[in-house]
Amino acid sequence: FELERLGVHDSVSAVFPPSELETFLADLPVSVEVVDDDGIDACDAVVTRDYHEAMLECAWVHSIQAGIDRFPLDDFEANDVALTNSTGIHDRTIGETVAGYLLAFSRRLHEHVANQQKRRWDRPEWDEAFTLPGTTACVVGTGTLGRGVAETLGALGVRVTGVRRSTDPVPGFEEIYATDDLHAAIGEADFVVVTVPLTDDTEGLFDAAAFDAMREDAYFVNVARGAVVDEPALIDALESDAIEGAALDVFETEPLPEESPLWDLEDVIVTPHCGAFTRDYFRDVGGIVRENVGRLEAGEPLHNRVV
Ligand code: NAD
Repeated sequence: FELERLGVHDSVSAVFPPSELETFLADLPVSVEVVDDDGIDACDAVVTRDYHEAMLECAWVHSIQAGIDRFPLDDFEANDVALTNSTGIHDRTIGETVAGYLLAFSRRLHEHVANQQKRRWDRPEWDEAFTLPGTTACVVGTGTLGRGVAETLGALGVRVTGVRRSTDPVPGFEEIYATDDLHAAIGEADFVVVTVPLTDDTEGLFDAAAFDAMREDAYFVNVARGAVVDEPALIDALESDAIEGAALDVFETEPLPEESPLWDLEDVIVTPHCGAFTRDYFRDVGGIVRENVGRLEAGEPLHNRVV
């Protein structure tokens, strides 16, 4: 198809100002404009965070997120709309966020920040703080996020193992387990880090049995999607001290409801689905969009095409 009008849907404002991307892409040989719901109709393609029905009339939709679990893939297929995603840009951001969680737990930084809010000079018990070298992190999902986490944690001296569907080795991972051996893999780790997409196979993957399989002194980290975890089972595991703590960027319901016990549990870090935030986000996404506009012009297949 001939690309003439590319819209930047205003839902991207949840992550960066739409006008930044509009300016970044201004040199493309197509017209680029920020649009709201009513403006989608007039575009051949849109860059967006949220799904809107009118997008099924476009020829191409680009998601600024890696996860496309909120898009009705069958409808895209049926309407012959190409869908591309932003997988590939979140390795360093998520890697550093996860490193931050682990350093908070090992150096007790989350407790110090909480105490500071209350003007409290409170030191940890002598045996609470530790250092990361010698600990093991088991990273479930060895794609962009998983590899970024492995690289960042590896640099901190953490031994990193991985869980994936095949057992082929992946650079940065000292050992790889097959998904069938998930419980054995997470059972030996000090930190379990979830980096798989939400699919029919991964929904509820972390259930009561998985938390049972974890060590009692282990921490659970979810930077993937809330529904990969059975949240009530996680809360049970935390409340019964079956695991030591958790760092969570994603939740079954977002924003995390005010009444959720996760807000108040000890050794739980809650972040508002911003683990991949960076002031360079619009440039990183813009790079993929620019590449794909070039590919369309050249009649080549789209990069990161999902449908
Ligand atoms: P990716 O496609 O690069 O990697 C996903 C990996 O998971 C692939 O290697 C795939 O083979 C593997 N996988 C799929 N199903 C699996 C299964 N059943 N068992 C084991 N491995 C399986 O994607 P990515 O960029 O690494 O992102 C992964 C997910 O993380 C996204 O789908 C999104 O939901 C989430 N995400 C969250 C944030 C955030 O802000 N917290 C940011 C980016 C991505």
